Amino acid sequence: MNILVINAGSSSLKYQLYNMKTEDVLAKGRVERIGMDSSILTHEVENQPEVREVSEILDHTTAIKKVLDMLTHRKFGVLRNIQDIQAVGHRVVHGGESFSESVLVDQNVKLEIRKLFDLAPLHNPAHMMGIVAVEANLPNVPQAVVFDTAFHQSMPPSSYLYAIPTVLYRKHQIRRYGFHGTSHDYVSKRAAEFLGRPLEKLKLISCHIGNGASCAAILHGKSYDTSMGMTPLEGLMMGTRSGDLDPAVVPFAINKEDLTLNEVNSMLNKHSGLLAISGISSDMREVVEAMNDGNDKAKLAFEMYAYRIRKYIGSYVAAMDGVDAILFTAGVGENSAPLREAVCRGLTFFGVHLDADRNAVRSSETRRITTDDSGVSVLVVPTNEELLIARDTYRLVKDKTAVESRF
Ligand code: ADP
Repeated sequence: MNILVINAGSSSLKYQLYNMKTEDVLAKGRVERIGMDSSILTHEVENQPEVREVSEILDHTTAIKKVLDMLTHRKFGVLRNIQDIQAVGHRVVHGGESFSESVLVDQNVKLEIRKLFDLAPLHNPAHMMGIVAVEANLPNVPQAVVFDTAFHQSMPPSSYLYAIPTVLYRKHQIRRYGFHGTSHDYVSKRAAEFLGRPLEKLKLISCHIGNGASCAAILHGKSYDTSMGMTPLEGLMMGTRSGDLDPAVVPFAINKEDLTLNEVNSMLNKHSGLLAISGISSDMREVVEAMNDGNDKAKLAFEMYAYRIRKYIGSYVAAMDGVDAILFTAGVGENSAPLREAVCRGLTFFGVHLDADRNAVRSSETRRITTDDSGVSVLVVPTNEELLIARDTYRLVKDKTAVESRF
């Protein structure tokens, strides 16, 4: 079975085509500048030169059509015709309290996702455009949706409630949802496999450190707590997001700087974090480079960033009464040895002993970076959210086919 995985944004759309028998990626790519002039489709097939096509792509339906044309292209394609795509899986950022697992798309599911537009105004409407665009191009192909929030629906109320009047939760579902769930789920399963121990017996802390960043306490395979909240702004310091701060800063800054609410929102999401403190970049590579050149602001930004991850790890050790392994994943977590070193430097009190040589290794494989006698293992686990979306879609479509064939 071939499954097309789609991650639709408001003006862009990423895709990966999987052969589920081998779990190989047959082709992948992205469409950028949808709805603007000179839209770009970039298409990659292993061992072949990248293809770039510039054209006018006014909406998501046309974008999907272009992707399907490319996948079946005589020269650059990998499929004979579009019937060779048996299912489509979509990433959806917010599943609210309605979805605690991946589901096949039907009218009700679409209605529920629409109801959640308020909670994720930048993301869910774009995902819906992706779903509708696939429907228009592949009307009889089943679609599944995989939510960034679903994995965290197992959190107990003591983790997900904010200590504010409960009417706000009851009326408007204001609570912690958490994000990066697909990644935390994937890396925790992969870590259990690597450690050769049942996930149901493990206490794990997963650190997804990319442009966006979050930690999760994963108790016996289920999310117990996570650092992102109702939106992805809460928690760790990130590339451009502030992470945790006293909420009273918002009205205070509004008064003092004569800002609007939208301006403060934009400041906290787009102009804070590593970028604000370093004054250089939101990209960890550039911050580390400047720090190594002696830039004090870059050094402070790096230290704040690592310190906050360490604080969350410490709090999750307390939350779970222990930890078996700490996992690093995503762009920074997988690639930045100095950051991992800085985080783990302060964790020796509960038995984390990093091996400097292992930490320095660059690899796309899951690996241990602690010494053999370290009380707690630290692993680098490359994440693969697209593969998990493809696997969930495959399972749901297979289950549906099995049920239908019985009647
Ligand atoms: P997202 O999916 O949240 O956009 P990624 O997980 O792809 O982000 O992470 C992107 C970030 O990873 C980049 O902003 C960059 O800071 C960081 N990154 C990538 N490679 C390295 C590296 N070698 N060293 C440090 N940071 C890196």
